[in-house]
Amino acid sequence: MKKLLLGALLPVILFSCNSARKYELVKFQGLAQGTYYSVSYFDAKGRNFQVAIDSLLNAFNHSLSLWEPSSIISRINRNEPGVAVDELFRTVYIKAREVAKHTNGAFDYSVGPLVNAWGFGFTDRMKLSPEKIDSLMQLVGYETIKLVGNTIIKANPGSAIDFNAIAKGYAVDVVGKFIEKKGITRFIVDIGGEVFASQRKPDGDKWKVGVEKPAANAFDERNLKIVLSLENEAIATSGNYRRYYEEDGVRYAHTIDPSTGYPVLHSLLSASVLAKDCMTADAYATAFMVMGTEKAREFVQSNPGIEAFFIFSDQQGDIQTWASPGFEKKIVEQFD
Ligand code: AMP
Ligand code: MG
Repeated sequence: MKKLLLGALLPVILFSCNSARKYELVKFQGLAQGTYYSVSYFDAKGRNFQVAIDSLLNAFNHSLSLWEPSSIISRINRNEPGVAVDELFRTVYIKAREVAKHTNGAFDYSVGPLVNAWGFGFTDRMKLSPEKIDSLMQLVGYETIKLVGNTIIKANPGSAIDFNAIAKGYAVDVVGKFIEKKGITRFIVDIGGEVFASQRKPDGDKWKVGVEKPAANAFDERNLKIVLSLENEAIATSGNYRRYYEEDGVRYAHTIDPSTGYPVLHSLLSASVLAKDCMTADAYATAFMVMGTEKAREFVQSNPGIEAFFIFSDQQGDIQTWASPGFEKKIVEQFD
């Protein structure tokens, strides 16, 4: 949830037209989960729900943030006795387990000890030897962490849960549901680049969302690779070009391959996924970064209903893209 840098999606929110006049556009930004959030909606009454949304996002951190020592997830990771999970935790756990199973462990919420060891969590990077990685690998395996009733049971007390690859997406869904409950049907929610776009804007246009071009360096300017037109749909992107570190000319991304214990090192630069909800999109986007270009493409092709877009480098080091047919249909602009 802590993001050193912003996510890889840039919503391009365009408003126009007379028919929008009876609605007021309400728009605000803030900070959540170590990144920015941005909410826009059309409301006939022009109500502003920022304070309520901020407290919703705080409640979220209280359950799922690894950077909050008193959160439910932190207390479970420290093996405090008698910690009961709440509904947010339960929902994320169920989806995380489903995706872990479906991706054959490419997505694995038990990577916590490795994420910390590699310096992508809340601790500094350790001195890592192959032996140290082997010993941390003994702690990894999503099936060893189970939810029984309201309690998490770990087969290994040293194991630790990391929901950072899915929690931001779920926060988007929770904020979206909150807005809907207020009777607002035309809105877009973006948390650090994970987005849900509702039904069309009052002018009849769908929402426009951009996917960022891979950047050579973490602080490079943001440019768009594609723009999509979305309606009642979520998109999430995972990339290796905003959070990484370099050592001896090798770039280590913050995605860990749970089958090796090492950060992934391959040609896939970013994976964007469309889904009905943002939590699902977020989890699969991370899983695809683990699989790499070829395996992820095969996975998408053999799982109808999952639509994805990959940016990867070819053998000459040139940037290439691939979109599944359902994703392709939604692209309205493409840049070199
Ligand atoms: P995302 O930006 O959604 O791809 O999430 C990346 C974050 O998920 C990392 O910073 C880690 O905290 C965590 N993570 C890394 N590797 C994995 C993995 N294989 N499965 C699940 N979570 C992971
Ligand atoms: Mg993710």
